[in-house]
Amino acid sequence: MKSNKKRREELRKRREKKEEKLAAPERERLLDEIAAGHALGVSKSEVVSHGYPYRIPNYYRDMPFVCRDCGKSEVWTAKQQKWWHEVVKVEIESTAVRCRRCRTIERDRKRAVREAHLAGLKLKAEKKKKSEPNQALCQRRGCAPPRQIYNVRQR
Ligand SMILES: [Zn+2]
Repeated sequence: MKSNKKRREELRKRREKKEEKLAAPERERLLDEIAAGHALGVSKSEVVSHGYPYRIPNYYRDMPFVCRDCGKSEVWTAKQQKWWHEVVKVEIESTAVRCRRCRTIERDRKRAVREAHLAGLKLKAEKKKKSEPNQALCQRRGCAPPRQIYNVRQR
């Protein structure tokens, strides 16, 4: 009779062999992609992940996707991914969802919304300034000081 330890060791070896067999065609494909420039190594020290467990791949590989807005098929290349995660420093979980054209449209839309919002805030601040003359200004002009409102409970 075999010991449990020996049995576990055998099972582990068998599992590793099986995994290696399954991984072989995948590795071959990866080598082809690297040769063609469709896969690039990941600089793991440059990449951050917000996911748990921590999953940073060994390679960027060309990633086909369908645009969220217009439904067009496009490829997010390994080179673009490397730039996105290692130069722009966006976490590895973030992937492309819009085609180039829709991305530009979305960026312009967001910019317009932001500008309108900031313009609104500026206008509001100016209006407030005009409607609330400060005390020093009133003294200089000799008009009545702005009414003070105290938060005192009336009895
Ligand atoms: Zn699109």
